[in-house]
Amino acid sequence: MGKYVYDFIEGNKDLKDLLGGKGANLAEMTRMGLPVPPGFTITTEACQEYLHTRSMPAGLLAEVEHHLRQMQTRIGRTFGDPKDPLLLSVRSGAKFSMPGMMETILDIGLNDAGVAGLAARSGGDERFAWDSYRRLIQMFGRTVFDVPGEDFDAALAHAGPDPGAEQLRELVDAYKKVFHTHTGREFPQAVHEQLFLAIGAVFRSWNSERAVLYRRQERIPPDLGTAVNVMAMVFGNRGDDSGTGVAFTRDPATGRRGAYGDYLRNAQGEDVVAGVRNTVGLDAIEPALRGELLSIMERLEQRYRDLCDIEFTIENGKLWMLQTRVGKRTPAAAFVIAAQLVDEGTITLDEALRRVTGEQLAQLMFPSFDESTAPPPLTTGVPASPGAAAGAIVFDSAAAAAAKGPVILVRRETNPDDLPGMIAAQGILTSRGGKTSHAAVVARGMGKTCVCGAEELRIESDKLTVGGRTLRAGDIISIDGTTGRVYAGTVPVRPSRVVRYFEGELTAHGDPLLSAIERLMIHADHRARLGVHANADTAGDAARARRFGATGVGLCRTEHMFLGDRRVLIERLILGDDDALATLLPLQRTDFEKLFAAMDGLPVTVRLIDPPLHEFLPPLEELTARVARATALGEDPGRDGVLLAAVRRIHEQNPMLGLRGVRLGLVVPGLFAMQVRAIAEAAAARVAAGGDPRPEIMVPLVGAVQELEIVRAEAESILASVPSAPPIRIGTMIEVPRAALTAAQIAGAAEFFSFGTNDLTQMTWGFSRDDVEGAFFGRYLGLGIFAVSPFETLDADGVGELVRIAVERGRATRPELTIGVCGEHGGDPASVRFFHDAGLDYVSCSPFRVPIARLEAGRAAV
Ligand code: ADP
Ligand code: MG
Ligand code: MG
Repeated sequence: MGKYVYDFIEGNKDLKDLLGGKGANLAEMTRMGLPVPPGFTITTEACQEYLHTRSMPAGLLAEVEHHLRQMQTRIGRTFGDPKDPLLLSVRSGAKFSMPGMMETILDIGLNDAGVAGLAARSGGDERFAWDSYRRLIQMFGRTVFDVPGEDFDAALAHAGPDPGAEQLRELVDAYKKVFHTHTGREFPQAVHEQLFLAIGAVFRSWNSERAVLYRRQERIPPDLGTAVNVMAMVFGNRGDDSGTGVAFTRDPATGRRGAYGDYLRNAQGEDVVAGVRNTVGLDAIEPALRGELLSIMERLEQRYRDLCDIEFTIENGKLWMLQTRVGKRTPAAAFVIAAQLVDEGTITLDEALRRVTGEQLAQLMFPSFDESTAPPPLTTGVPASPGAAAGAIVFDSAAAAAAKGPVILVRRETNPDDLPGMIAAQGILTSRGGKTSHAAVVARGMGKTCVCGAEELRIESDKLTVGGRTLRAGDIISIDGTTGRVYAGTVPVRPSRVVRYFEGELTAHGDPLLSAIERLMIHADHRARLGVHANADTAGDAARARRFGATGVGLCRTEHMFLGDRRVLIERLILGDDDALATLLPLQRTDFEKLFAAMDGLPVTVRLIDPPLHEFLPPLEELTARVARATALGEDPGRDGVLLAAVRRIHEQNPMLGLRGVRLGLVVPGLFAMQVRAIAEAAAARVAAGGDPRPEIMVPLVGAVQELEIVRAEAESILASVPSAPPIRIGTMIEVPRAALTAAQIAGAAEFFSFGTNDLTQMTWGFSRDDVEGAFFGRYLGLGIFAVSPFETLDADGVGELVRIAVERGRATRPELTIGVCGEHGGDPASVRFFHDAGLDYVSCSPFRVPIARLEAGRAAV
C-alpha cells in the first residue's frame, strides 16, 4: 500500500505528476508561508487505481481521516461539529491545467444540524448559512449523483430574485426533494460520507465527456488521472469586506507588466470564473489588502520565474490564496514576456527560447482586419484572445458543432458544456465576463479568437440586439480578438504586423512584440544546427523566403513551370512532337535565371519533373465526352481524337505508383536532358552577369541506385558541354521506402539526399494522401490509431525509422553527404525537432513557414 495523501506542507511545485498542478502549487505556496487554507492532496495514483478498480484504494480513506484530524487540530474546528462546522472544498486538479473541465464541490460538511452553527459563527447571518447549504446540495447532487442542473435551477427561479433566509430555507427543502426524486435517497447528513462520495466523484470527473474531449483537443494523455485537493473553505460571500477574484501577474493578452485581475465583492469564486457577474478591477480592493496581494504576486513570479495566475478570496478582511499556476497567455504575450524576463535578469535567452513555440509564431502571422476600410464596429468588448474571425452567428454550441461553414459562437457566457461548439467555431463572442472568464481562458488555450464581455450586446436564444440593430442566427459577424471590436458582415483583412516585419516593411524599433520576436529569432538562428530552406518555384516566392530568413531553396518544383500557356507544349511532347522540348528549353532557362538571381549566393535545389504526364492532359472523361459529341454531330474530333488516344495510352489505374519521377526521365527521351541543360545554361548566364548561382539537380522518386546512375551519367555529359556553368551537384530525393533501405548504395551516386516525406509517408503507410482525409482519417483519429495525421506531423516510429536508417547508411557510404527534407513536414514544429534529432542538415518548407521553422530549429538545439 502506497502513500496516497500529502499534506500541503509536504509537497512542492515539482510534484505535478503526483499531486496535479493545483496540488503541487498549493503545496509550494504553503511552503512559501503564503496564506493558504490548510488542506491535503490525494494523489493521481489513487485516482488511477480508483478508475481501474472502480473502488477506493485500500487504506486511502483511513489516510484521509488521519490528515483530516491533523487539519482539525491545526484549525481548532471539527468537521461535522454542529456548533461550528469545519467546511471543506474538494477540488480536482490534474497535471495539466484543464480549466473547468472536471469537478469541484464546495461547502462539504454542512448538514441540517450544522446550518444553525454556521449561522451563529457568521454573526447570526442565517441567509449566508442557508445559501451555502443549498449550494452544497446542488453541487453535490449534480456532481455525485448526476441530478440534472435544470431541476435545481427551476426551484431557484421559483424562489425569486433576492431570496431572504426564510426563502432559502424553503429552497433547501425543495432541493432535497429534487435530490430524493432523482437518487431515491435522502441527502446524506453524515459528513464523512459526503466527503468520501465527493472524492469519488472528482476522481470520476477525469472521464467526464467534456474532459475527454478537452484532452483529445489539447493532446493530453488519457491515463494520467486527477489529484483531489481537500481544503478548508474560506468565504468571499460574507459581506462587503469579503470578496473573490482572479488575477495575472502580467496582462495575459499583451504581456504588459503589472498585475491584471477581476474582482467581485461579496461573492464566491465560482461566480468570477463562470463570468456570470461583471467584475471590477483589483483597484476596488481595499489598499492594505491590495498591497499584500500584489506583494504575494511578485513573490510568486520570482518563484516560478514566469507569469502566474492566481485565485484568491478575501474573508472578512483576511486574504487567502486558493490557487496559482504558470498562466496561459496569448502568443503575443508569450514573446513579450519571455523577452521581458530576460531583460529583468530572471531567465536566460535559451530559456526564453524554450518558452515560445513555432505554433505561437504561426498564430501571429495570420492576417487581421483592416481597420482603415472596416465599417464602424457594432460594439467593442474585451479583447480576450487575438485573431480575426468571421462567420455565421450561432447561438448554441450544438449548432456550432453541426455547422458546415465557418461560424462564430455567440453566448452570454460560456460554460464547460460549450466546449464542442468552441472547438468547432472560428471565434467566440460573449456579452459577459472579463479576460479571466471561461470563454477567455479556454479560447486562449486553444489559440482561438475571442471577444468577451461585450456588455452592450443583448443576446437571446435566437437573436442579438445592439444599438437598435438585430442580428439573427446565420447572419455574418466579424470579431477582432486583438482590439475587441465586433462588426456586422465580413471585414477585409490585411497582413499581420509580424509578417510585415519579416517582409522588411516595418522595423522592430519601439514595438515590444516585434522587438521580442527579433531578439528571439536572432538567438534561434545563433543556436540552430538545422538550416532552413524554402520550397519555392518562382523568383517571387524565393525572394520572399529569403526575406523571411531562408538560406536556400530546398525544393523548386519544375512541373509548376509547365502550367498555363506552356501546358500545350507538354501535350505536344506527349504526342511525339520533338520540337516541343526545343521550345521549352529557353522558357525554362529564363525561369531558372530569375530564380538563381533571387537566391544569388545560396543553394537552389531544382527537382527534375516529377508528376505523371497525364496531369498535363485534359481528363479522360472530358475528352471522351468531347470526342463522342463531335462524332455524334458527324464532325471530325480533330486534335481531341489524337489527345484521347494518348490519354488512353498513358492512362494508369494508380498514377501515384506509376510512370512518374525518375521513371519518366528514363522513359521519355530528352525530357530530363532539356531540364539539365536549362539549369546549366541559366547558371552560366548568371555567372556571365557577375552572379553567384548555386544550383543543384535533384532526381525524384529513385528507388534503385541504377536509376540514379543512368540519369547522372547523362546529366554529367550535358553539364560538361556547358563549361562556363559553375559546378552543379547531383542528388536524389529519398521518398520511396526502398531508397531509404538501400541508402548505402544510393549515396554512392548522390551528393545529397532530400527526404520527400509526403511520398515517403504515403508509401510507407500504403495510403494515398489525396484520398484519406475524407475517407477514414476522422475515424482513425477518433480511435486513437494516430493522435495527429501523419501527413501533418512526421510519424516518428514508422516513417521516422526509415529516415534514421537512410541517414545512417547514406553517411556511412559518403560522410560529407548533405541531407535535408522538403516535404510538408519541414515546417511542422514537432517534425522539425525530429529532423534535428535525426541529424539532418536542413529542413525546407513553404516561405510562410520559414520563420516558424527557424524558431523551432533554434528551440530544438537548446
Ligand atoms: P477549477 O479548476 O475548475 O478552477 P477549482 O478547484 O479552482 O476549480 O474551484 C472552483 C472555485 O471554487 C475556485 O475558483 C474557488 O474560488 C472556489 N474554491 C475552491 N476551494 C475553495 C475554498 N477552500 N474556499 C473557498 N472557495 C474555494
Ligand atoms: Mg480554479
Ligand atoms: Mg514526391
